[in-house]
Amino acid sequence: MEGNLQDCEETWGCVWRRAGHRGTPCILHDPNPEKDVPAFHEALGQIKAASNDATLPLYGTIFPARVTQELYASLGGGHFKLKLGAATFLGPVNFDAKWFMKMVDLDGAIFKQAASFQHAVFRNVVRFVGARFERDALFANAIFEDSVDFDHFSCQRADFALAQFKSMVSLRGTPDRQLFNETTEVIFDEARFIEPNRVRLAYVDFKQCSLLKTDLRGIDFSGVRWGETGKWSKRIALFHKQPEEQIRLELENAYRQVRQSYEDRRDYGRAGDFYFGEMEQKWKGSGGFLATLYRFSSSYGHSPGRAFVVLLLLLGLDAAFVTLSGVKPASGAAYNLAAGADGTGPSFLEAWWNALWFYVLKTVAFSQPSVVPSLPIADAFSSLMRIVISVQAALFALAVNRKFKR
Ligand SMILES: [Zn+2]
Repeated sequence: MEGNLQDCEETWGCVWRRAGHRGTPCILHDPNPEKDVPAFHEALGQIKAASNDATLPLYGTIFPARVTQELYASLGGGHFKLKLGAATFLGPVNFDAKWFMKMVDLDGAIFKQAASFQHAVFRNVVRFVGARFERDALFANAIFEDSVDFDHFSCQRADFALAQFKSMVSLRGTPDRQLFNETTEVIFDEARFIEPNRVRLAYVDFKQCSLLKTDLRGIDFSGVRWGETGKWSKRIALFHKQPEEQIRLELENAYRQVRQSYEDRRDYGRAGDFYFGEMEQKWKGSGGFLATLYRFSSSYGHSPGRAFVVLLLLLGLDAAFVTLSGVKPASGAAYNLAAGADGTGPSFLEAWWNALWFYVLKTVAFSQPSVVPSLPIADAFSSLMRIVISVQAALFALAVNRKFKR
């Protein structure tokens, strides 16, 4: 900003200079945080008084830290068009519960401290394009009655809990610079988007974005990056701060709504990812052994790979048990048990292989086995396993079907 000090009239169209104030440095654009606060106020008052169209053209103005207590009043109490592009606020900004009747332009503004607009009401267009909040950007409970543009803005943390967006909302980054990043916590809990088809999301990173009890129906999420979780296979996971157990219903609902949005746009791959999250919350919520089993066996009927591996494990386990119990040739079967070279019989692995091929797989396929377990208990166990294996095979078929139906 220092370089611009001499030519603020040229750079910012400085109204103070244009009004004939030649003193150096210019009170509006002086970057000195210790600048004369009463003189700064006096200047704002004069600019306000001279404005004949209720506009405050304050581009590039540097607001000293101490002015912020009366900031709203010095900016016309919400009755002036605020042109604050590239302005810098050195102190914390508090516009809580203030009403802005005219448009507010804060494009490229820099907030050195927390900026709070909680419970504020914006009756007109608001622009924060490229604004930089070096700390928190707080918009909880704010009401945006007209369009609001947050493209390319940045912050440490953004809170839009319970905010109401009644018109267009734009949250867009660029391919090489996503809006938000992995460390930016963004809270949209219980936010309301009255016109979801006017929510524009592009190149947005929602890895740390909480969407509990937010009405998401109709919003196009195609430009959004989501967080992932999972040790073995990555899958999409919505961000949340509270322990999962306390917010299952809300999470399930959020997954469902995002899934519906993707389905409406025929993006079935993404929809499937969110379906898994939805089912997971639903089944975990219902708790119990069945849910755990359903998850373990096939990721809620959603992973053919997992279902297949578990199916193989079950077959192998059955064969191992039969092997341990010992096998004998089935009556009438032309089958000789393999014997080891030293006459002590086959190794465990060979015997297991035989049990798998000539007993387990045959009985599962309802054909005549060539060997049978020597012990009745192994036979009974195997019959039970056959039921489990059939169910697992059905789950595998279900998961495959789901994968290819989409
Ligand atoms: Zn100036």
